[in-house]
Amino acid sequence: MTSAFPRNADLHSHSRVSDGTLSPAGLAQRAHANGVDLWALTDHDEVGGLDEASKAAAALGLRFVAGVEVSVSFAAQTVHIVALGVQPDSVALRDGLAQIRSGRDQRARDMAHDLERHLGLADVYAGALRYAGNPALLSRTHFARHLVEQGVCRQTHEVFSRFLTPGKPGYVEHEWASLDQALAWIAAAGGVAVIAHPGRYRFTTAEEWALLERFKALAGKGIEVVTGSHTAQQARKYAGLALEFGFYASRGSDFHSPTESVCDLGRLPPLPADLVPVWELLH
Ligand code: AMP
Ligand code: MN
Ligand code: MN
Ligand code: MN
Repeated sequence: MTSAFPRNADLHSHSRVSDGTLSPAGLAQRAHANGVDLWALTDHDEVGGLDEASKAAAALGLRFVAGVEVSVSFAAQTVHIVALGVQPDSVALRDGLAQIRSGRDQRARDMAHDLERHLGLADVYAGALRYAGNPALLSRTHFARHLVEQGVCRQTHEVFSRFLTPGKPGYVEHEWASLDQALAWIAAAGGVAVIAHPGRYRFTTAEEWALLERFKALAGKGIEVVTGSHTAQQARKYAGLALEFGFYASRGSDFHSPTESVCDLGRLPPLPADLVPVWELLH
């Protein structure tokens, strides 16, 4: 790959196959229209959109990276690991993701129950399900959309801060995959593992350090530095940690929806020039 390519990589985005609102083909079109020249679809815990995304990208002449964002539990928090360049038909990866998805339905029923009790609403599970493009992938985002529709909050972000985050009445603790499992599945599928939006976690410095060290020991390669969820200060912090740990740096909007996402596809600052971009590992 020549150093001039890509100019505008966006390696983190979601379709209706998880908690985005556009189809995989719709995302490909939007990425292309926004000037993205290397694009990854990274739905949560699901590779079902990759075939459509890959075909749509090819038709547009847009270089595509097959990805998935894997839900992991580490030090009693949820951590997301973006896998890039995976073989979507890997049985190890598919079985692992199916195992993660299998816990989502009961969690959603528990969340619905808590929200119903707290808000005096009925049929919250069915209401959230109406927003899910994929019933096997019911996520907090679908609950947030339903509660906005019900007039409980004006924006999905507000639903998260009032109800859907740790310590709040609609939050249900959940055990996802372990970091070790996730990295094994990603490796089996030939993918590159990247720590997603590290600035979003609420770890102590010691816990964060433990995450980075364990990830490195498990042959994890990358870390998101420039993402839609980082402030400029967080991008600088994780640029420093990428250099310190020898991680490749990634860049991705984490785009979910034209009306909800703060950062549109491809509309991100460049990676700091002293970092090694993760796309050097993607062929
Ligand atoms: P889940 O996998 O069901 O726990 O849902 C996680 C998803 O919720 C994330 O991928 C985001 O799309 C969304 N999310 C988490 N926190 C927030 C927030 N503060 N504001 C808006 N969306 C959020
Ligand atoms: Mn999401
Ligand atoms: Mn995430
Ligand atoms: Mn994401």
